[in-house]
Amino acid sequence: MHPILKPALRRGWHDLNTVQFGVTPAHAVVLGPVDTATGSFLTLLDGTRGVPLLRDEARRMGLPDGHVDALLDRLTGAGLIDDATGGGPEADALRRRTAVLDRLRPDHAALTVTTSEPAEGMRKLAARHTMRVQVRGAGRVGAVIASVLAAAGVGHVDVRDGGCVEPWDVAPGGQTTEAVGERREVAAQRVVRATAPARPPRPDRRRTAPRPAEHEQGGPQLSLVIVAPRDGLGIHSPDPVAVEDLMAAGIPHLYAGVVEATGMVGPLVLPGGTGCARCLLLGRADRDPTWPRLLAQWGSGRSSRQVQACDVGLSTAVAGLAAAHGLAFLDGELPSSTGARWETSAPGLDWHARPVWPHPECPCGAGEGGYGKETPVEEEPHDTMAG
Ligand SMILES: [Zn+2]
Repeated sequence: MHPILKPALRRGWHDLNTVQFGVTPAHAVVLGPVDTATGSFLTLLDGTRGVPLLRDEARRMGLPDGHVDALLDRLTGAGLIDDATGGGPEADALRRRTAVLDRLRPDHAALTVTTSEPAEGMRKLAARHTMRVQVRGAGRVGAVIASVLAAAGVGHVDVRDGGCVEPWDVAPGGQTTEAVGERREVAAQRVVRATAPARPPRPDRRRTAPRPAEHEQGGPQLSLVIVAPRDGLGIHSPDPVAVEDLMAAGIPHLYAGVVEATGMVGPLVLPGGTGCARCLLLGRADRDPTWPRLLAQWGSGRSSRQVQACDVGLSTAVAGLAAAHGLAFLDGELPSSTGARWETSAPGLDWHARPVWPHPECPCGAGEGGYGKETPVEEEPHDTMAG
């Protein structure tokens, strides 16, 4: 272990004996009292010294025996210590690939802020490299999500979509102007490759036969699917049939998209655990009997080539937020889109969350056992002149 005070957190002294690590209330820690000798000793925690050397230095500074260990325990307990050498073999491998790690340094720094154990940030960053995520939809939102995930170090990002790139699919970080007319899927996959800091890991050849869990192309099973339909109705009223395979296989999936100048991120569906697309549909129909009638009308008679009301500022914000929620989930957290949907409408653009309650009649089972009881929620207002 080579202890390092997390460099991502700015240090500020309130007074001679009280030090604050970090700026924002979400991640800042105040430590005190800290005596002057200990304060000077903190500068030695820069990841270049192991614990025995730190003990020697402390003795030289006149600090009592056992002081270093007690201080390290205290700092580690406060989540302030990273380990410049820990995290296991995958983390070591990543540290050796300096060009790859240089691309990911801000992402690693962010993970050191959001994790508490030493080297946990590096371990989680390295773990992303072995994960597989599928993005369904390669328009303004989906293609950007895919490239952001790749840029954040997710090793396998598969993009699924039909048709060819239209001029209005082009967006910064997503489909390129050169790709217009090319197959969406192929073009998006090229953007993913170009953005990724490293090539995807090759399947382990030491295994003689693929495990049942292996993906058909080799490599790991899907950790997450992001559903990013190009058609706004597909995000407003997600089709449960389109994710039946994911529900059956228990694969977590996150919705993201823009419908008529309203951006939506969520819900993150944990099949059988949180409200799913069908729960959303059933809940709406309970609250508004005209709902199915409207849905049928909205869904009919529109060409799939119909241009959507989806400005590039909003689509980029939605893609970025969705990718961040997806990454938080891949890193082992449950982001606030779990069982909820974040929405924002131009031009005010305030984000607010609406819960997606499990429905007691949904076969997904999330509504069983009284968990997440049905509670009336104000849905999007619309005139109910008919019905
Ligand atoms: Zn359900």
